[in-house]
Amino acid sequence: MQERILIVEDEEKIARFIELELSFEGYVVEKASDGRTGLALAQEKHFDLIALDLMLPGLNGLEVLRRIRQTSSVPIILLTARDSTMDKVSGLDAGANDYITKPFAIEELLARIRAVLRNQGKTHENEKAPSNILAVEDLRINLDSREVQVGDTLIELTKKEFDLLAHLMENKGMVLSREVLLDSVWGYDFIGESNAVDVYIRYLRAKLEVPFDKKFIRTIRGVGYVIRDE
Ligand code: CA
Repeated sequence: MQERILIVEDEEKIARFIELELSFEGYVVEKASDGRTGLALAQEKHFDLIALDLMLPGLNGLEVLRRIRQTSSVPIILLTARDSTMDKVSGLDAGANDYITKPFAIEELLARIRAVLRNQGKTHENEKAPSNILAVEDLRINLDSREVQVGDTLIELTKKEFDLLAHLMENKGMVLSREVLLDSVWGYDFIGESNAVDVYIRYLRAKLEVPFDKKFIRTIRGVGYVIRDE
């Protein structure tokens, strides 16, 4: 199977050069030229490794790294132009697997990519990748273990509360009407209070938002509810 690599690099010449070399080595390559696009791609698609420039327009590389790490353990190699110890330390602290200082010889980058992928292969034999984790800001849910966390705090939810939250998070960014939520979470044959959705949204807010002074679930007046990144 071909391994997929994402290059997040705003210097077109460097990005193109790395892309050519990696393609030549048999990797499937995608590119992003700014931080936001890179982050969006990393969150939407599967990659085996990300080569991430630190100095990026829009969202800098360190911030992109931090946000990717909230939901994914994909291997990340930082590309840094500055030979600054601070950058490397912050990058490694934030969860980068390795870094390489520009300008670098392509052979060196290739060697590091192989090493990181090899290491990753070893850890994956023992450890399941957290692929069933959904996140909005610092709210995280695991669809397998049904664990819910705000920051580092584990939150206890009832089955229905979890199902409702999971449904909203699986449809992140989409406004869902009460009817749709009622049908998907309670089922078509639900007979009971038609305000069940509102009641359960209140329960969720009391557990997830109020104690942390956060707002994850938005009410769209006259339409329904949505969870999205602000
Ligand atoms: Ca740059």
